[in-house]
Amino acid sequence: MSRIIIISNRLPVSITENEGDIDLKPSAGGLATGLKSLNSDKEIIWLGWPGIITNDISLQEKITDKLKDLKMYPVFLSQDKYDKYYQGFSNETLWPLFHYFQQYTMYMTSYWLAYKEVNMIFAEKLFKIARPDDIFWVQDYHLMLVPKLIREEYRKASIGFFLHIPFPSYELFRTLPWRSEILEGVLGADLVGFHTYDYVRHFLSAASRILDLSHHFLGRIMLNDRIVDVDSLPMGIDYDKFAEAVNDAETQKEIERYKKTIREGEKVVLAIDRLDYSKALPKRLKAFDRFLEWYPEYKRKLTLVIILVPSRSTVPQYQSLKDEIDLEVGKINGKWGTSNWTPIHYYYRSFRFSRLIAWYHISPIALVTPYRDGMNLVSKEYIATKTDGKGVLILSEMAGSAKELTSALQVNPNSTASIVEALHKAINMPEEEQKTRNKRMQKIIRRNNINSWANSFLTRLQELRKQSDKLL
Ligand code: UDP
Repeated sequence: MSRIIIISNRLPVSITENEGDIDLKPSAGGLATGLKSLNSDKEIIWLGWPGIITNDISLQEKITDKLKDLKMYPVFLSQDKYDKYYQGFSNETLWPLFHYFQQYTMYMTSYWLAYKEVNMIFAEKLFKIARPDDIFWVQDYHLMLVPKLIREEYRKASIGFFLHIPFPSYELFRTLPWRSEILEGVLGADLVGFHTYDYVRHFLSAASRILDLSHHFLGRIMLNDRIVDVDSLPMGIDYDKFAEAVNDAETQKEIERYKKTIREGEKVVLAIDRLDYSKALPKRLKAFDRFLEWYPEYKRKLTLVIILVPSRSTVPQYQSLKDEIDLEVGKINGKWGTSNWTPIHYYYRSFRFSRLIAWYHISPIALVTPYRDGMNLVSKEYIATKTDGKGVLILSEMAGSAKELTSALQVNPNSTASIVEALHKAINMPEEEQKTRNKRMQKIIRRNNINSWANSFLTRLQELRKQSDKLL
């Protein structure tokens, strides 16, 4: 029977090595969770980088052996290749360009060559474990050349590709010197999935203008020997896990603990993000400062809690962004703070699940205003934990999730004034209105959850292959 092979940059596992001993911990990322309840009894296999760089062959063998029990296959990379492919082309070329930060985009041939080589290494490793009748699902911007490499090896294979970040407009995408290879790489798939219709449109427009490939209005591209469907399949969260976690004893303990730190009449605005320029945290700080200027009556009544998860700390823009945020937080606290009120509580670390849920649940307002975000799971998770229906989500129009979460207070993240006014509206929103809005959003998030996302992608992929076989 055919199997499902997931090919992603990172295996969903964390490995620690201690004097030759290997410890493996599976990590419950979105995709791994979604695959757990597939409407299919097919075996699932993962291929990806294990999160560890080592030239020690015996250690590599040990890791490979241990991963086999989890049906995972590691792709080992040298430090140099990893740096140029991952930090380089993935995070200093594709990431900034696809998030509309052209000024940060590095167009470096050495990065591109490493990217090509590593995509090839992934494919070669895959061919050692794959069978032609397997179903291949390639994930994200790190591996955009892999679908084509699989297609060249197995002409009739079922191949899917999903991009977890935005696909930019043609005008930006065309600036990439390697634009044709990237499009051709992705078009090796039968089904190409994005979070929103806008990303679909951008991709189709790039394919038509760069590769001269026309498409049917529903997003179907006819190639010589097969069909490629390009569609919007927004990724969801494990809704029940987030909603149910609120009542866990551990979460409840955290909730009580945090509540004690909040004074009578004080409201918390929550901002949770990975450290990334696309998330526009300095803009939010500016809006918070401006809010206190415009509405001084809310001094001591509105407190901003920032949970900032460290990320990509070796990339220069991330280091200077961290400095900028540290400085701004200090300035605002210095400007507005009093002996018994610190306007911004700032945590630069990752929080464990129960604490994250506790913060989501007790915060009456969440401020999620990225400049660009492929989807933005934080916004969906916040709404899922609102089991009593109360809470206001302020959401950027530029987040992929804005297409589904239309009952949020949506703002243009470039407009400080519109964030300030949204904060004011959020504080004063009647409870009934909060509940009505959240109910609508909860219905959508519960239905479009992570399981239905993985199921619909894989079902669609298999149907498509059958159609291609019949039609052509
Ligand atoms: N998150 C986490 N620990 C934290 C804070 C956040 O695991 O301390 C998670 C959060 O629950 C969410 C993810 O990080 O699932 C962030 O995903 P999102 O799509 O919002 O942004 P990304 O980081 O993928 O750009």
